[in-house]
Amino acid sequence: MSSVPFVTLNNGVKMPQLGFGVWQVPDEQATVAVGQALEAGYRSIDTAALYRNEEGTGKALAASGLPREELFVTTKLGNGDHGYDSALRAFDASLANLALDYVDLYLIHWPMPLDDNYVDTWKAFEKIYAEGRAKAIGVSNFKPAHLRRLLEETEVVPAINQIELHPNFPQAESRAFHSAHDIVTEAWSPLGQGKELLQDPELARVAAKHGVSPAQAVLRWHLQLGNVVIPKSVTPARIKENIDVFGFDLDDTDMETLGGLDNGTRLGGDPDNVNSR
Ligand code: NAD
Repeated sequence: MSSVPFVTLNNGVKMPQLGFGVWQVPDEQATVAVGQALEAGYRSIDTAALYRNEEGTGKALAASGLPREELFVTTKLGNGDHGYDSALRAFDASLANLALDYVDLYLIHWPMPLDDNYVDTWKAFEKIYAEGRAKAIGVSNFKPAHLRRLLEETEVVPAINQIELHPNFPQAESRAFHSAHDIVTEAWSPLGQGKELLQDPELARVAAKHGVSPAQAVLRWHLQLGNVVIPKSVTPARIKENIDVFGFDLDDTDMETLGGLDNGTRLGGDPDNVNSR
């Protein structure tokens, strides 16, 4: 049903290049939205302990009747659970909430560098990975300096770094660092949260040229760069629209036009300063 291609992570695990994000979706609504996404052909779902909708997400996964091996489930460690023992306990809680016996991808949600505990946290992730309870482990919101420490002080290279990334904030330095170290780049807020980006007149011209919506053109830009994307919507028509991005190609000029929309706009926190719980 789905024509979503896979990317191969650095441990051989295959991950759909396009998935469904559920940040800011209340738990009960997550059951509905994830159900609609699975119906529309999405197989990869991105949740987090911090989103407080792992249970609702898990209910939709179970209700779908889809074989577990066809699903790709990501969740993330909450910021209050850094540290070796806390991370192990938090992972157990996430699995229980999701009603799963493994996740496909487990991420450290934020590095929280002032707490300076992400190296120990990562060692817990290595244990979870060795036990097969996460098929792949990765990080989120890590800058190259944070990744460098993991590469120097721990064993397993993160499979993924999930970072804020959209045409207004294309993260060239991080993307280059990731590809040099065999780490896949995953884009959060790939649509710029549906704000100013989707109103951009140059984006509108590229979208019109291909007879697609601005959101579809942006998702295509990500996919052609090699990013994994996890757009979010709770509107059934948009859920379908956002996965219907495999029937056209942007040309080099279009890619340059969208790449030229970089204006340094960060919609979320700067990872160096996010240390709140
Ligand atoms: P997004 O860029 O996916 O934008 C979502 C919003 O865009 C929707 O709420 C809606 O208003 C609008 N939209 C969606 N589809 C549209 C369409 N086809 N046409 C017009 N408007 C449309 O923003 P997001 O939810 O912030 O990011 C996606 C996912 O990334 C999240 O749900 C979450 O899973 C993940 N995320 C992770 C982090 C992190 O720290 N790791 C942070 C933010 C988000």
